[in-house]
Amino acid sequence: MEGRDGHDEWRDVSRRRLLQGGSALLGSTAFSGVGAAVDDTDPTDPVDDTLSAVEPEVRGVYMMPLWYWDTAEVPTGRQKMREWLDRAEESGLNTVFAWIESDGVASLLGEPAYAESDYYDFWNPDHQWDPLGELVSEAHTRDIEVHLWYSFTRYKRSALRIPEYNPDLEVLPTGDPDWASIRLEEWENGYRDPSHSMVGGEAVCVNEIDCHDWTLHVLGRVFDQYPGLDGLHIEEPGYLAVDRCVCHRCQERYGSIFDDDPANLIDHTYYATKPYYDDERAVHTRCHGTDEFVERLHGWWTDRMDDEVLSFNGSWAWEWDRVRGRNWAQWSHEGWVPYFFPQVYTDDTDYFEHAVQYAMEWLGEDATIAPIAGLEWGGGSNDVSTVLEQIETGRASDGHAGTAEAGAGLFSGHALSADMTVGLRGQPYTRSTSPHWHDEEESDQSRGDLTREELEEQDPFAFTSHWRAADVPGAYTGPPLIEETFESLGI
Ligand SMILES: [Zn+2]
Repeated sequence: MEGRDGHDEWRDVSRRRLLQGGSALLGSTAFSGVGAAVDDTDPTDPVDDTLSAVEPEVRGVYMMPLWYWDTAEVPTGRQKMREWLDRAEESGLNTVFAWIESDGVASLLGEPAYAESDYYDFWNPDHQWDPLGELVSEAHTRDIEVHLWYSFTRYKRSALRIPEYNPDLEVLPTGDPDWASIRLEEWENGYRDPSHSMVGGEAVCVNEIDCHDWTLHVLGRVFDQYPGLDGLHIEEPGYLAVDRCVCHRCQERYGSIFDDDPANLIDHTYYATKPYYDDERAVHTRCHGTDEFVERLHGWWTDRMDDEVLSFNGSWAWEWDRVRGRNWAQWSHEGWVPYFFPQVYTDDTDYFEHAVQYAMEWLGEDATIAPIAGLEWGGGSNDVSTVLEQIETGRASDGHAGTAEAGAGLFSGHALSADMTVGLRGQPYTRSTSPHWHDEEESDQSRGDLTREELEEQDPFAFTSHWRAADVPGAYTGPPLIEETFESLGI
């Protein structure tokens, strides 16, 4: 990718910003801001509908179609999925982000090795059950959009050999086991071949150009087969581990960027506990791959889908993400990120507010943001009132640093309880609306009038057991995929 001088200038700006204000902002006590308006509202005052629910607004919710894809229970799965969509409509939500990884995509596209495998059988459309197609059509009858939620590095599960690595595909372009990334830890343990069975391979190497081609081809096939999909939502576009990747390709890339011995990439790559923020070279090398892919993805998307929406999610602190190749602030400034959804999973609404505004400052003017509030996430959960406060707090941050606030995402949809639904439709989602990228401002959603008790009787949350990687024979048994926390990062 050209323009590394520009990147250096960007880096200087970002460092200066960190020195001047970032440390304080990242602290837990230094912040005060507009969120106080939420708590100071006199309960007897009329509802302030400055940002009225009739204004276009993203009201997203994250879900996994494979919750309902167990082919042994198709009638039940279909019924539960419809009930879940009813629940989403009752809650006033208008956008579903549907998580599907490349293995599921391969099955839905008819790739025999996946559609006929016992391990992938639950994806098999031959069972007269196309959960993605039905999700889209059923959602549309409820005036809800469905966006494919996808990771182009695919690190979330490692139990099964993924299509990107499979050299024997019949329908899709063949992959290559050599596309796997290698962690520093694996390299230091003597594993230099990405296709070696002892290499975890949770993520493809972002510097593998053939994999970029593969991904765009497969996404094109998905959107051809499911033309009703309303958008594409990219999951954390980079690595989970900061010591990834040190493979032969990345070493060559490092050598060409810095005119240095390629093997020296190893000396610039650190584990999370090391002060890697002080060393730009490995970060620069991995962002080289993600920058290149995201630029291509944006061009591909806008050529194909005109004004349809492309969005990304990540953390709220760019410097935390960038060391993983998740270079979203720079991509936003390049114009490649139409909508950014920072994950702000906390039960502290002041912290939520400062995190949202911190992300806004990184995105800068003319960017659009929709923070993701946690219903229930890996580290905790929120009660109804906290979720409602955080949605309002996001709205109140509109315009901070010149960044437009587009609405909110809710994670995860499996925690869309009866209480949560009643709370959401009471306020802030009193009236239904469409996301603001939608052509029509009016929504035909029927707002729910079921009581909490009636909602509880629906119980749309009977998930298939197949989605747990631990249930699958041959599951990856390497180190945990998540071994880093904010604390260990020293920020
Ligand atoms: Zn690599």
